[in-house]
Amino acid sequence: MPNIVKAYAAAAATEPLDVEQIERREPGAKDVAIKILYCGVCHSDIHQARNEWQNTVYPCVPGHEIAGIVTAVGDAVTTYREGDVVAVGCLVDSCRTCRSCRDNLEQHCEKGPVFTYNGPDKHSGGTTYGGYSQAIVVDEAFVLRVPSNLDLAGAAPLLCAGITTYSPLRQYGIGAGCHVGVVGLGGLGHMAVKFAHAMGATVAVFTRSAGKVADARRLGADDVILSTSEADMGRHVNRFDLIIDTVSADHDINAYLNLVKRSGAMVLVGAPEKPLTLVSFSLIMQRRQLAGSLIGGLRETQEMLDFCGEHNIVCDIEMIGVEQINEAYDRILRSDVKYRFVIDMASLH
Ligand code: NAP
Ligand code: ZN
Ligand code: ZN
Repeated sequence: MPNIVKAYAAAAATEPLDVEQIERREPGAKDVAIKILYCGVCHSDIHQARNEWQNTVYPCVPGHEIAGIVTAVGDAVTTYREGDVVAVGCLVDSCRTCRSCRDNLEQHCEKGPVFTYNGPDKHSGGTTYGGYSQAIVVDEAFVLRVPSNLDLAGAAPLLCAGITTYSPLRQYGIGAGCHVGVVGLGGLGHMAVKFAHAMGATVAVFTRSAGKVADARRLGADDVILSTSEADMGRHVNRFDLIIDTVSADHDINAYLNLVKRSGAMVLVGAPEKPLTLVSFSLIMQRRQLAGSLIGGLRETQEMLDFCGEHNIVCDIEMIGVEQINEAYDRILRSDVKYRFVIDMASLH
């Protein structure tokens, strides 16, 4: 018997989100039923709710930064039990047998990972619904454990903003002596700063927002560069081992590529709606690399959560009621978020 729960959904690309009833399956043998306490608001939720990536199925219930409490488990579940504090990120399933899945890179599953929302739901035959809802049922293999010392609301956005920035820092072996640049101080950007700083790197933030300079320093930045100032930008040519670009809209990536040192890399994690322009010389001249990175696999996500537990790292959040979600979207689009909105799901009743 499926259970009916309340959710917040977009009915169409141009509609504001509103309350909706959705079905959650009865937990199967390997399933964990979770009461959602908090859900972070990612810029991807906006891209998806508004069909900016042209693949949205409606109604769309966004939300992939989920934190909550286990309310029931299936007979074959071994890792979790009722009452455990758990989290779910961007993935709820994958084929588990392909090369990427065997390499613990389920986000790159060759059969297509099943995203937490807007993905094909093999159980219902429909579409997966995300965390802007009261409850979710997820296979235990895609459930994560939140260290008990972390504030749960502040931990929720680690499940996307956290892992998406932690993973490239690890992929590029960032540590003491490295220079890391972070472009855009939003949800992802502020976590990139915290992680790079905790890993011992020298960190620079590139922002268009003069009002964020003091915050950037408090979050761990050694330098803050106003990207609107050519003179400021010019002082950092050929400096960075790694630049992580989190910008969600069209912008000039060449201006940042020129700041990467010889053989260094710039990694795009931002996913703007429109294609970006690449000038070949930005890469050729110092044989720089341009790459992308997509969230992280389950093993690395748990590693990131454990790293946060050890270093006492959570996201800087602004808590909202679910009825404020449309206003929060508008504020994110104005870069007016410090630095992640988190929905208090108790507001959905
Ligand atoms: P966010 O909180 O809105 O942060 C984006 C930041 O980019 C803004 O705070 C702003 O920083 C800067 N920015 C925005 N518009 C800009 C423009 N027109 N020109 C220059 N800078 C601009 O968004 P987020 O949640 O961190 O997500 C960022 C992007 O990453 C989104 O596109 C999202 O879909 C994508 N994403 C990708 C992955 C992945 O796995 N690759 C995972 C999650 C999200 P300043 O005010 O400091 O300039
Ligand atoms: Zn996200
Ligand atoms: Zn696979």
